[in-house]
Amino acid sequence: MGGLGIVACLALVPQAIGQKSPQGPPSTANAFAFHFDKAKAWDHLLKQCAVGPRNPGSKGYESTKSYLLDEMKKHCDNAHLQPFTYTWSVTGKPVAMANIVGDQNWKDAKTRILLLAHWDTRPSSDMDSSDANLKLPILGANDGASGVAVLLELMRVTKARLSKDVGVMYLLTDGEDLGPELSEMFLGAREFARKMPTPRPDYGILIDMIGDKNLKVPMEPNSMRYAGTLVKEFYLNAARNGLRETFPMVYGPVIEDDHMPLNEAGLPTMDLIDFDYKHWHTQQDTVDKCSAESLGKIGLALESWVLKDPAFKIM
Ligand SMILES: [Zn+2]
Repeated sequence: MGGLGIVACLALVPQAIGQKSPQGPPSTANAFAFHFDKAKAWDHLLKQCAVGPRNPGSKGYESTKSYLLDEMKKHCDNAHLQPFTYTWSVTGKPVAMANIVGDQNWKDAKTRILLLAHWDTRPSSDMDSSDANLKLPILGANDGASGVAVLLELMRVTKARLSKDVGVMYLLTDGEDLGPELSEMFLGAREFARKMPTPRPDYGILIDMIGDKNLKVPMEPNSMRYAGTLVKEFYLNAARNGLRETFPMVYGPVIEDDHMPLNEAGLPTMDLIDFDYKHWHTQQDTVDKCSAESLGKIGLALESWVLKDPAFKIM
């Protein structure tokens, strides 16, 4: 994840939003067979981390790009790289990067959903408590690999299961975490926003830092500001599917992330993020801080949204 905006205090969302929604597991009366396999998502997290840091130019970068594009090709109707370069202030040299994009049932759909996560990792550990670590790239088990892992498994699930009215585009952004300053972050999301596909998505859902073992994903205020109806409906849907504890209807901190360039380009996009993670941008953002259970909860929330109740429309 990129930047933290002004840190907002936790505040209760007005009662009208947090209306009663059933707690506990989904009711069997309205049984819906979930297909999202948390073990498969977890494998995708491990596989990314096994190659080490994945910042542009790193050893793990090229092999990860190939692996992610191959997965996209397996599960999407169309898959391609969206390459771009950026002259980085840190080196004064151009950095080659690429978004990875795939879509399912895009052309003929009536509702088009963009799902995104960043696949690059931070080239520095600028929040590390040890000075010796500040310049080392992070592993990004949570900040990077977790969101990608969920989307890779979700694309397997949604393939051939989408209603004919729903199209999904999967976007793995690069250059989200280049930095060090906010002005040099969200580079892939900016590139995508500049070259918005036709037909355009109706709205976007970003997932970032959702692998934390102790997962809570509060409502993010910038998302509320730009995509408030989407946020409320998504959280209510999650609650109906037994995920109210994971998606508490309270505000979390204000976050600067890949959703902002999209929102600024007129595409309402929410960020699902658990920023309460003390290993953020440190050498400690490793696999042992994450869990398959957390990936599974995000997967179920997304699968139930996209497959079970896809009627939501941005007005
Ligand atoms: Zn980050």
